Amino acid sequence: MNTSTLSSPYQGSMFMIVAPSGAGKSSLVNALLQGDKGLRLSLSTTTRAPRPGEVDGKDYRFTSPEEFIAERDQGFFLEWAQVHGHFYGTSRAWIEAQMKVGCDVMLEIDWQGAQQIRKLIPEVQWIFIFPPSIEALEERLRKRGQDSEETIVRRLAAAHDELAHAHEADFIVINDDFDQALADLRHVVAASRLRSGPIMARNPALLRRLGV
Ligand code: 5GP
Repeated sequence: MNTSTLSSPYQGSMFMIVAPSGAGKSSLVNALLQGDKGLRLSLSTTTRAPRPGEVDGKDYRFTSPEEFIAERDQGFFLEWAQVHGHFYGTSRAWIEAQMKVGCDVMLEIDWQGAQQIRKLIPEVQWIFIFPPSIEALEERLRKRGQDSEETIVRRLAAAHDELAHAHEADFIVINDDFDQALADLRHVVAASRLRSGPIMARNPALLRRLGV
């Protein structure tokens, strides 16, 4: 993968949220974004069919496998992976544009994509969301009522693969109580913004005045 076009030093903070399907990741991220205007969510491209209520260009950029492969081969994606039998990818141009202007960005991706991004952008903060139990995960997948039985069984089996990568994350948020999990997520974001790298990159004039 070509990394030469990624701007450096990046003045913003980049976060990746990884979780097994049904851990409540999207609800947490949506609530986080509503209260944080400085954080932008990456719009992924996928070849899976839209779920009821999902909107093209808002929830995902929905595309065909043929188009995805053509775009992938042209280097459109910063990272891409096959998850639950479908392709998913992150737009390279969008991420580069946010990095150039120092925006904070959030990626909702799987562990394979997270590993790729970490290689490209080592300062990225990887946050893993834990469900309180496997039973709770199954209950949430069924309650959602948007997936077929076959899809639910496939996603439950994949949850074990996803959870096996939790030790690679920088932070783990346990989504037992939603409000507590959201508060934890906000703390992670706040603390990450105070890391010395982003603070130094954002305040060159102050550093000069302080003689740092
Ligand atoms: P869902 O189909 O439930 O929306 O997402 C299935 C899985 O694909 C989730 O683990 C989600 O995080 C992951 N995913 C969504 N977008 C991307 C992406 O752009 N790249 C990668 N690698 N995974 C993604």
